[in-house]
Amino acid sequence: MKTSMLSGKTALVTGSTSGIGLGIARALAQQGANLVFNGFGDAQQIEKLYTDIGKEFDVQTAYHNADMSKPDEIAAMMQFADAKFGGVDVLVNNAGIQHVANIEDFPVEKWDAIIAINLTSAFHTSRLALPGMQKKNWGRIINLASVHGLVGSAQKSAYVAAKHGLVGFTKVTALENAHTGVTCNAICPGWVLTPLVQKQVDDRAAKEGLSNEDAKKALLSEKQPSGEFVTPEELGALAVFFCSPAGDQVRGVAWNMDGGWAAQ
Ligand code: NAD
Repeated sequence: MKTSMLSGKTALVTGSTSGIGLGIARALAQQGANLVFNGFGDAQQIEKLYTDIGKEFDVQTAYHNADMSKPDEIAAMMQFADAKFGGVDVLVNNAGIQHVANIEDFPVEKWDAIIAINLTSAFHTSRLALPGMQKKNWGRIINLASVHGLVGSAQKSAYVAAKHGLVGFTKVTALENAHTGVTCNAICPGWVLTPLVQKQVDDRAAKEGLSNEDAKKALLSEKQPSGEFVTPEELGALAVFFCSPAGDQVRGVAWNMDGGWAAQ
């Protein structure tokens, strides 16, 4: 049997049916971790997705459909991971949504949903995963924040508030466990071309009468000096680094991978 860095360990990635979460889940499976997937989508497509990844990397995979805005469903997902794999060694808090509007027009239910999914869910998964990690004296919590956890942008009040909150939560989680083998860090991507961002590209194309390609260029040129999208594969490689022995003393950082966005 081949062994890899994360053989025998279990990773749970919230919101891993699409985009960045899926890229990170693949990267962790490639390192030998068993995987619990989570997120929304077509049931058959999701089943194919996690079955295929299990076969490709010769790891065990499972899926739980918990809604990250519902604490009781999050608890059921963590119990499911415990029953299936004996706990979670690598927790990636990735599920997230976006809504773009000025504060005075921001729908209250959108604010509540963004805070619940992008911030509060990480508290619930972490509080339930930490005792098991502490018992094993090894664990990794990786919070998908954003460059918007470091800087603001107009019309993204709830998202920027949630991501800044998540960076703060990351630091406290790291500090409370600093004397253990459990680390916690945040990843802060700039623009990544996932469905979450394609929606913003589409909105911009419609509003400004631009083609899809020109709307992408406009989005990038405004904020991301590299002019290139960050990829889920690059973010997966950073998550793998956090899980490696070289990451043992990386604690409480908010590491941006943003094509230079936050350097400006
Ligand atoms: P995406 O829309 O491609 O994927 C989001 C995932 O979250 C999907 O699997 C979706 O089903 C899941 N999800 C949404 N609501 C959920 C809920 N209530 N419960 C469970 N799962 C839910 O988005 P993405 O771009 O891959 O974003 C992933 C994370 O990365 C988010 O936290 C996002 O804020 C962050 N991020 C994205 C970018 C970017 O440019 N795409 C940049 C910085 C940070």
